[in-house]
Amino acid sequence: MSDFDFDLFVIGGGSGGVRAARVAASLGRRVGIAEEHRFGGTCVIRGCVPKKLFVYASQYREHFDDAVGFGWDVGSPIHNWRRLLNAKDAEISRLEGLYRKGLENSGAALFDSRAVLVDQHTVRLTKLGETITAETIIIATGGFPNEFPALAGRQLCISSNEAFDLPELPRSILIAGGGYIAVEFANIFHGLGVDVTLVYRGTEILSRFDHDLRQGLHKAMTDKGIKVLLTDVIEHVTQSADSKGLVASTAEGQTLSIDCVMLALGRRPNTSGLGLEAIGVKLDKKGAIVVDQYSRTSVTNIFALGDVTDRVQLTPVAVHEAMCFIETEYKNNPTAPDHDLIATAVFSQPEIGTVGLSEKEAAALYEDIEIYRAEFRPMKATLSGRGEKTMMKLVVESKARRVLGAHILGHDAGEMAQLLAISLKAGVTKDDFDRTMAVHPTASEELVTMYAPSYRIKNGERS
Ligand code: FAD
Repeated sequence: MSDFDFDLFVIGGGSGGVRAARVAASLGRRVGIAEEHRFGGTCVIRGCVPKKLFVYASQYREHFDDAVGFGWDVGSPIHNWRRLLNAKDAEISRLEGLYRKGLENSGAALFDSRAVLVDQHTVRLTKLGETITAETIIIATGGFPNEFPALAGRQLCISSNEAFDLPELPRSILIAGGGYIAVEFANIFHGLGVDVTLVYRGTEILSRFDHDLRQGLHKAMTDKGIKVLLTDVIEHVTQSADSKGLVASTAEGQTLSIDCVMLALGRRPNTSGLGLEAIGVKLDKKGAIVVDQYSRTSVTNIFALGDVTDRVQLTPVAVHEAMCFIETEYKNNPTAPDHDLIATAVFSQPEIGTVGLSEKEAAALYEDIEIYRAEFRPMKATLSGRGEKTMMKLVVESKARRVLGAHILGHDAGEMAQLLAISLKAGVTKDDFDRTMAVHPTASEELVTMYAPSYRIKNGERS
């Protein structure tokens, strides 16, 4: 046993930190973990989980509308924002309790305090006024919303953090940003009956996704009444003359009177004030901790994982990086996190599910690719009368027939992307798709019945 208080001390009780602490403790290591806010971190407290609960809440509007086509009379539904918040808060507290219990049961010591580094083996727990030592330290402090301090009127705006606890549902909202958080909240608020405008400086929303998904979702959003302003940014936000709302002006000369402005302009790694630079932990230009392939920082006994390293900012990635740390450090099995072919979803309405290369990425990397693309009206829309479309697309390398990317816009696209990811990870070919029997009647059967390519891209030329 070492002379340190702990074998492992984890700073940050979010997705990555909790997993690393819990598993290390269950392997018999003496583990401590500090959390300055609430155990569960961004994902549980103010990210994935409350967001998905809000998505479910917002989807009921379309369900009520669609029900009429199937013979239901549902009257005029009324939404109670306060009741939703209370239910969401209860569920978040339940999950937080499970996180705490899981850690306690594994034998880890929990500290409800901010933690900062004093030297490479010493951590100060600022709220508790204690100092502890550890042989190995993990920094898993996550990230926070870009604050955009240069924006005039910034103090009048909210970020996703506050969007989860607004005292009242606004009648109108302006959301700045074109990433998945901005897009998801635009759909959530629209579904709850809020008048939504999205403003984004780029030429199309969701810059890292396949262009068909981006354009298809943009159209679906505008068709249902969400206003999308592209190549524009908010220049300043002021209080309205009657102090009841806000007025936002954009660079392109738009003036909007709204109740609320939400900034969703990316996230920054949470590294300031941790004492990292003083002990030689290297940061990159964005302030993210620089790590090697095993998540080790420039100080050999200090590791970093999850959003604070700015590799891929997703919960399963933070958890995977934690499990790789355990394999490497405590199971004598050096394991580098695998960041290839990560499936992901945008919980918009319609939803996006995607895995692998976009058409553009594949065309830049491969000489010859085939695109299989289907756009159709989902069966439910026939009776509901909803004018929506589902889109499915496979990007295939022509020679080896390997499926490089699969992209879906439509109901349950996230669920489908998860299953497709298994096949793509296993190196599935288009011939495997063709040999697979369809499940009928489903939307996903389209994935195995697109026999002829819609078009081909050879040396960058489409034919
Ligand atoms: P976090 O979960 O952020 O945890 C870090 C913890 O460290 C925090 O609890 C923080 O309070 C604590 N901390 C920070 N500094 C200190 C300190 N000095 N001392 C003690 N404690 C400290 N990902 C998905 O996969 N799917 C989604 O649908 C999804 N939706 C999202 C929606 C929103 C609105 C947001 C903001 C994020 C979403 N994410 C989603 C991303 C996901 O939440 C993060 O990738 C994930 O939480 C990262 O885990 P982490 O362990 O790196 O950090």
